[in-house]
Amino acid sequence: MTYIHNTIARLKKTSPAQAEFYQAVEEILDSLQPILETNEKYKAHAIIERMVEPERQIMFRVPWVDDQGNVQVNKGYRIEFNSALGPYKGGLRFHPSVNASIIKFLGFEQVFKNALTGLPIGGGKGGANFDPKGKSDAEIMRFCQSFINELYRHIGPTSDVPAGDIGVGAREIGYMFGQYKRLTGNYDGVFTGKSLLWGGSLVRKEATGYGCVYFAQYMLEDHNQSLAGKTCLVSGAGNVAIYTIEKLYELGARPITCSDSSGTLYHETGINLATLKELKEVRKVRLAEYLQYHSDARYIPASDYPADGHAVWRFPADLAFPCATQNELTAQDAQALVANGVIAISEGANMPSTQDAVEVFLDANICYGPGKAANAGGVATSQLEMAQNASMQTWSFAKVDEKLKVIMKNIYRNARDTAVEFGEPNNLVLGANIAGFRKVADAMIEQGVV
Ligand code: GLU
Repeated sequence: MTYIHNTIARLKKTSPAQAEFYQAVEEILDSLQPILETNEKYKAHAIIERMVEPERQIMFRVPWVDDQGNVQVNKGYRIEFNSALGPYKGGLRFHPSVNASIIKFLGFEQVFKNALTGLPIGGGKGGANFDPKGKSDAEIMRFCQSFINELYRHIGPTSDVPAGDIGVGAREIGYMFGQYKRLTGNYDGVFTGKSLLWGGSLVRKEATGYGCVYFAQYMLEDHNQSLAGKTCLVSGAGNVAIYTIEKLYELGARPITCSDSSGTLYHETGINLATLKELKEVRKVRLAEYLQYHSDARYIPASDYPADGHAVWRFPADLAFPCATQNELTAQDAQALVANGVIAISEGANMPSTQDAVEVFLDANICYGPGKAANAGGVATSQLEMAQNASMQTWSFAKVDEKLKVIMKNIYRNARDTAVEFGEPNNLVLGANIAGFRKVADAMIEQGVV
């Protein structure tokens, strides 16, 4: 305990005001106690001290001109956290909430997540405090080009391979790749999540959502349950939520909610996937418009949410899939879910449950799949995109989907077996954290003090 305390105290001093980063570090260190106590080598090689310090952090100005001719300035980030297992890999997030703490927690989580996939990828993350909401296509393009005017010199197909995250999809990746190509003259696999027309991989768009449902399926199977007939709460209405909903329907479950930053939608007969895609992928409008298509649905505006949490988690259901953003599920939300008889949680977002909420799930002894395991399907399929680009091949949808299933099963088994090994069979937080840590830490030791 003192070890965790000292590490966090030191971080607070040397990296001030990074609450989300401390939260992510604290969770990992808490899980690592049993392995740190029995393995002197990790302390002797100062593994924790090195792991919490990114190998490199790049912060830069992103100036651009809006449609009215005004000069705008945003903050750009790329944190190259750990390259023990491969090139830095992780998405770019464009959202007004982005700051050094958010990018650092995401980068830190990415290191362990990527290790868990079993694929040769290190961890990194980046983004900008740019708000894509309400921006024209031309503004998005100018912003992406300006962002790459700095970032291009730091990335490469064998050094650092960015992808999407919140606010960054195939359109943004296209503009960034175009500018990278113009500046470097290289047509290489420096981004993943590319369009299918020019180097993208089938299933990449669907992979995070599909993977998070596969993970739930494997957890349930282990407890002699299945997805068939289960009612599901899903939060979010972006890429992850949409393809979580799609896969839930395919496997016979009934997703009854989704949400965006303005409110939550509840549709008892099941969220209409075609309408959701039309609103969010085509028209890019608020979820509230869903009611114009389905008058039997209910909409709860964010202003009516409970003071201690989120409306989406207060509906009774069998399963919950947090697919929006960090800390979207509080301890009170977790208590409501448990009281309503939820049997499994599978996280599509990064760190969506607060630390107290995680405690509630673990104490209730229900199936809880933490984000860094359950949402690893996205980055895993990014690595499959890299493999296709490097070998100049294009694999079929079925082939990539099959590989994704195998990867998710391996992640689940690895987390579960590690949890069993350390005497807490139902604690996948501990299992995932130790399994990811061990891989990165042992690689770091073999590579010397770098
Ligand atoms: N942003 C996604 C994540 O959080 C995907 C990253 C990637 O594909 O590189 O894992």
